[in-house]
Amino acid sequence: MLPDIGPRVAGLNERYRHHAAISVMEKALADPDTGRVAMVSSFGAESVVLLHMVSLIAPATPVLFVDTMMLFPETLAYQQEVASKLGLSEIRTIRATKAALALDDPDGTLYQFNTDACCNLRKTVPLETALAGFDAWITGRKRYQGATRAEIDFFEVETPNRMKINPLAHWGREDLEEYMVQNRLPRHPLVAKGYPSIGCAPCTSPVKPGEDPRAGRWRGSQKTECGIHFIGGKMVRVKPAEDATEGSDKDKVA
Ligand code: SF4
Repeated sequence: MLPDIGPRVAGLNERYRHHAAISVMEKALADPDTGRVAMVSSFGAESVVLLHMVSLIAPATPVLFVDTMMLFPETLAYQQEVASKLGLSEIRTIRATKAALALDDPDGTLYQFNTDACCNLRKTVPLETALAGFDAWITGRKRYQGATRAEIDFFEVETPNRMKINPLAHWGREDLEEYMVQNRLPRHPLVAKGYPSIGCAPCTSPVKPGEDPRAGRWRGSQKTECGIHFIGGKMVRVKPAEDATEGSDKDKVA
């Protein structure tokens, strides 16, 4: 049983506040105050940065990959390529259960008329179930992604029993790009085809020059949320720019 999460998170931030991203990752994966740590990755446009850091420090770290069964074939191929190239040995593919799909989306068309329900079914519930076995998870959230993230720390309380770890909190887009170039990391093949942010195939379109990088997500609808973050044990809605699992987002997995 770990001690109270508040003092643990405060202590971690105090100990590592002057450390660089990869050092925060290294400390987070070894410090007893973080407990059981997983990483959540969408294997999207920028996910490879954190995946590379994990591969250098502890390649057996569990990496939770949410397969909505609506992803681009390129994403599935990229996931295999990155896992193999980086030697990540503990990729755990998370999916909605067959029973849940049969009940709520038997013909796979739920996204056409209720994207929130579809995201909840295919992302939120499976991921929350998978995270239940962990005390902390690594996210790609960054301060530049929005006003509400402007002061995020490396370590954050998510629920009374789980924390988020944000090693890239202080990074900008240019830092991500530089890291990928310098380390010769494989890029998601759709980036070169006009997809700077990559989610499910039915809900992602290419972005034109000058558009927001996430303009292609749920284009033409009012939806701007991924809905897979939990605060105080409850799911909260977050705007894509603040989504965690994608590295740009969410990465979280949207
Ligand atoms: S992004 Fe689209 S297809 Fe994917 S889970 Fe959400 S609504 Fe469904």
